[in-house]
Amino acid sequence: MSDSGIVRDDAFPKKTVRCNLWPCNVAEEEGEKGACPFMKCQRCEEVLYCCKDHQMVDWSQHKLVCEAPS
Ligand SMILES: [Zn+2]
Ligand SMILES: [Zn+2]
Repeated sequence: MSDSGIVRDDAFPKKTVRCNLWPCNVAEEEGEKGACPFMKCQRCEEVLYCCKDHQMVDWSQHKLVCEAPS
């Protein structure tokens, strides 16, 4: 039974994550480490940005909907 709880990573299609700043087209496959690490909004941890600049640019809009998880 020891193997039954292990889920292979590649059993699921990879989800592509995209920078939350429209119309930034930078995207990467979730779970990929290295090349271009996306950063999360540190407050809600729900939206992702390709870089700090885009997080700051988007903040004026995102802060209207950003909620820290309870
Ligand atoms: Zn971006
Ligand atoms: Zn947020």
